[in-house]
Amino acid sequence: MNFETSRARALEKLNIFVENNLSEYSRLRNFDFGTDNRSNISCLSPYITHGIINEKEVIEKSLGKFSFIKNEKFIQEVLWRTYWKGWLELRPNVWSDYLIELNKIKGEFKNNQNYLNAIEGKTNIECFNAWINELKENNYLHNHTRMWFASIWIFTLELPWQLGAEFFMQHLYDGDAASNTLGWRWVAGIQTQGKHYLASEWNIKKFTNNRFNNIKLNENAPPKISRKTYSIIKQDFNNPQNIEDKSLLIFENNLAFEITDFQNNKFKKIYLISNKNENRSIKLSEKVMKFKSLLIEDQEQRLKTNSIDCEVIDISEIKNIENSYALYPTVGENLDFLSSNSLKIDFLYRKLDQYSWQYCNKGFFNFKNYIPKIISTFN
Ligand SMILES: Cc1cc2nc3c(=O)[nH]c(=O)nc-3n(C[C@H](O)[C@H](O)[C@H](O)COP(=O)(O)OP(=O)(O)OC[C@H]3O[C@@H](n4cnc5c(N)ncnc54)[C@H](O)[C@@H]3O)c2cc1C
Repeated sequence: MNFETSRARALEKLNIFVENNLSEYSRLRNFDFGTDNRSNISCLSPYITHGIINEKEVIEKSLGKFSFIKNEKFIQEVLWRTYWKGWLELRPNVWSDYLIELNKIKGEFKNNQNYLNAIEGKTNIECFNAWINELKENNYLHNHTRMWFASIWIFTLELPWQLGAEFFMQHLYDGDAASNTLGWRWVAGIQTQGKHYLASEWNIKKFTNNRFNNIKLNENAPPKISRKTYSIIKQDFNNPQNIEDKSLLIFENNLAFEITDFQNNKFKKIYLISNKNENRSIKLSEKVMKFKSLLIEDQEQRLKTNSIDCEVIDISEIKNIENSYALYPTVGENLDFLSSNSLKIDFLYRKLDQYSWQYCNKGFFNFKNYIPKIISTFN
């Protein structure tokens, strides 16, 4: 598996998937055929997470090929990301509490042999060990495998979900505060309270095409319990009436200025913000850091080709920039840096988020009903 670090290659990947594999997506998407055979899914998440391509672009491309009805499953999956993002925006304390809990648990588990065996891929569960190595090597796992992995981590290895979520963030090229934290909470049974995801031998065998056998798992564990509940924090995701001629900050989630809603606005200069591990609560692997910096470089090149004045700067230098807007970084490490350094910046929100996040107050089944409405705003 190779995730090349350019928008051009991401677009090529999208085109190939839509032309050749989208028609079978809904039938085949749950199969993990192994790293040499990933054509049944798009493998676009490392790009969408970084805004190299965006949800609107992906959905429009798919609708250029097939009708909404034929495409519904794929579109739903693409918008799961938007839903999780919005869900967390309305309850940002879920992320901050997660980091607090993680910090505490990390201290408790740093010498725990079960934990150390798990992250070294030295458990007695062959498939799990294989996925640990795959994650470290390819920085990607299939969605179904992420569910099995998290379930085995929590219910068979009996390790805290917070540590598993950290391990994913460290190694996934698509690591995202919302999809990852809420994905792990969902498997544990605390996202939809009392409803957990239990991996089972037959399911793994079937959907890995019998690549793994003799998988001894705890298939009867009860869901995890959390007494914390989170009420919605009402927020406005409004853009300024007039966008003035100021500078623009772009974080790692919006690395294709040319497809943003603000591409036609004039900005004095664009700053591409690089966030190193020293300013992150979760320290990312070298490969993930490299991936991010190459994607930032690719955006810088494209801006320069279009004669747009731009510069890559470290997040700590933001304080020296006066008069700027920022494309909203969303709940996660970059927003945390701004808040903890009391940096007040006017955010610019994407139309898709402004419109969709109002429907993230309840579950995904409710959100799904609004998908046709959300898509109708694309034109
Ligand atoms: C425990 C756990 C942790 C996860 N952590 C992340 C993460 O850090 N970052 C991340 O981007 N995704 C995460 N996911 C969601 C999902 O696994 C990946 O987005 C998906 O596997 C990406 O592969 P793909 O691009 O081939 O997906 P496809 O099946 O081709 O789907 C197309 C696009 O839809 C979106 N999508 C699909 N499934 C989901 C989903 N369940 N949730 C949110 N968006 C989805 C992605 O943007 C994806 O690129 C996690 C899921 C679980 C269960």
